Amino acid sequence: MYEVKSPKVRSQFEAMMKLEKVRKVLDFIKADERKSIDELKELVLIEAPTHHEEKRAAVFAQKLKDLGLEDVHTGRGGCVIGLRRGSGNGPKVVIEGHLDTVFPFGSVKGVEERDGFLYAPGVGDDTRALAMLLSLLRGLNAANVKTTGDVYFVGTTREEGTGALGGMKDFLDEHPEIDISLSVDSNDMSRIIYEATLCQTWEFTFRGQGGHAWSAFGTVAQPVHAAARAVAKIAALEVPSSPKTTFAVSNFHAGNISGVHAIASEASFIINFRSNGAEEFAAVKKAVFDAVETSAREESQKWGKNEIEVSSRILCDIPGGTQDAHSPLVETAWLSLSALEAAPWLEEGGSTNANIAISKGIPALCMGRAWAPDENSKRVHNHSLDEKLHIVNAHKAVQHLALVLLMAAGIDGEFGSIVTK
Ligand SMILES: [Zn+2]
Repeated sequence: MYEVKSPKVRSQFEAMMKLEKVRKVLDFIKADERKSIDELKELVLIEAPTHHEEKRAAVFAQKLKDLGLEDVHTGRGGCVIGLRRGSGNGPKVVIEGHLDTVFPFGSVKGVEERDGFLYAPGVGDDTRALAMLLSLLRGLNAANVKTTGDVYFVGTTREEGTGALGGMKDFLDEHPEIDISLSVDSNDMSRIIYEATLCQTWEFTFRGQGGHAWSAFGTVAQPVHAAARAVAKIAALEVPSSPKTTFAVSNFHAGNISGVHAIASEASFIINFRSNGAEEFAAVKKAVFDAVETSAREESQKWGKNEIEVSSRILCDIPGGTQDAHSPLVETAWLSLSALEAAPWLEEGGSTNANIAISKGIPALCMGRAWAPDENSKRVHNHSLDEKLHIVNAHKAVQHLALVLLMAAGIDGEFGSIVTK
């Protein structure tokens, strides 16, 4: 059973919860819930497929400006960045949600609210995070809270799919001064994501001479067969369940309908593999590459002529790493969720924007978007057209952001950051 070990984290958290202005922040956020949900309904209608976030970014930037942030601008790679300046001498903190969704333009037909849920593609992942950041800002402003550290409020681009956390990479490259990184990108607010799963996606293409299915048979090696041999070997791989390690061939392409009596000259497949362990990741990666190489060789040797050539291309490369489960941020999140009666638990691994910070050794956390106390509220179908978001007690997830942010950034005149170097 997890327990908060640090007396300092505990005492600072308890002192914070007694502060009048922190009460005010929490009360304001609760009262702001309806406005925040309405703002989410507005934002989700501005579609933002990965690599095409400009429209939503512009609206989000304007909202940050309206809430008094300094120097609101578009950073490298299209990220929207605004600064809420602290009193000085504190850490540089970023809190972010991603602007992009996995859905192409035309997917969002509207947004519907019923039975404690909002329904629209992307409504949770991660549009809700953007609305949460705005509600959090209003709460801090209403209670006149000045943090010690500077806080960057950021809408990141290209988190999903082949974007591969690109916006967050850009932001942290452009802002090496960042000391603490907070992300909002998970369905269940009670989940604490503090680890970073290693993840790569590769495309392998097998090429040969090709020819007629009958007349060229035996004179050339067959690229489709070589690719299929590789997939068969990959299918038979064994990986550990702990640390969790996975592999999946997602695409297989070869031939065309006019060439059904042909030895196709080219075949390709795409595979994704991940692991929470660095050694296990290296092992599954080696096994995949071995399977590809061996299969091309076997197919070439079977016919003894016309060697199959293989080329590889990396489509997605997400760095990983881990942090102490008793780091000040993790312990703070645990106390905050407990105070909000949200039954905290620690996630094993993770593939969120926090990966980029964690891989750079920056203390980081990824937090959740919704109150999800039961199975029904957890089943929200991310990345599918019937995505929904549980909005009962929606303010609680925002309150959680506030408590973690204030512990991380410090409050002027009260206490400094709980994260010390
Ligand atoms: Zn997401």
